[in-house]
Amino acid sequence: MNFDALRPLLDDICARMAAMPDRGTVASYIPELACIDPARFAMSICLPDGRQISVGDAKVEFSIQSVSKVFTLAIALGRYGDRFWSRVGREPSTHVFNSVQELEAREGIPPNPFVNSGAIATTDSLLVGATPKETLAEIVRFMRQAASDDAIFIDPQVAASEKETGDRNWALAYFLRSCGNLRHDCALTLGTYFHHCALAMTCEQLARAGRFLAGIHPDGNLIAPGHIRSINALMMTCGHYNGSGEFAYRVGVPAKSGVGGGILAVLPNRASIAVWSPGLDRYGNSLLGTQALEILSQDLGLSMFSIT
Ligand code: GLN
Repeated sequence: MNFDALRPLLDDICARMAAMPDRGTVASYIPELACIDPARFAMSICLPDGRQISVGDAKVEFSIQSVSKVFTLAIALGRYGDRFWSRVGREPSTHVFNSVQELEAREGIPPNPFVNSGAIATTDSLLVGATPKETLAEIVRFMRQAASDDAIFIDPQVAASEKETGDRNWALAYFLRSCGNLRHDCALTLGTYFHHCALAMTCEQLARAGRFLAGIHPDGNLIAPGHIRSINALMMTCGHYNGSGEFAYRVGVPAKSGVGGGILAVLPNRASIAVWSPGLDRYGNSLLGTQALEILSQDLGLSMFSIT
């Protein structure tokens, strides 16, 4: 990737996004997220030689929400290896990310680790033999090492806000438990889940945190290369919920979104990219974040399905 050409391209994307009339809808079902300024936009790219290039509000913190599910999956795979998959599937979902119907149809085995039911089961697996505090400390530690930055914290107000209003997640947790796929008390597992979703990070920090998935982390491989391949495959097929096919068609790289408006995209061996724009599309994925990645992908020929 030509670094010198990247800066003007990112500046151009940033300017084009600022002029977009439709910025999507900011998530309001978590009250703390409803007041985020929809005009925010940021993008940051980390390259194998250690260089990082950023545009827009790349030093402003946002709630990473479901992007955290990539990191909990990385820890869970490290702990359980293939045994992890007895509790969670590896198939794209066809319903909304917090669907109860889909979980019921699959008799309590979530379709994949990135929809809410799958991520709640993943969090539950991390709680085996550890308290919520220890588990959250492990997640934060992993995130800090991945981002090479100790100034990463959980926003307790966002976690509390979701705990109050997250009825759908309570329904999913109780359903998982009724099927024998939740080992802990629903409040314990959900409390931990809400907290890791409430990790606050800047776009720059998130791009750095994704380097291990591209195999370009300065400390070497943080997890087994086989697990990196597994996670990237799941990001490609399931990272945007029931909008994953559309994202693969338009952008064509493994990526994970969150309702805070962040997207982490991975180019194996080449780059880790984070984008943030809080307005969402109908699937709950960042509207402008996706558009920005689509332009970047087309301009640089990044889609893994592209022959150029
Ligand atoms: N914490 C959010 C929830 O459970 C995460 C959802 C998301 O980012 N898509 O609903």
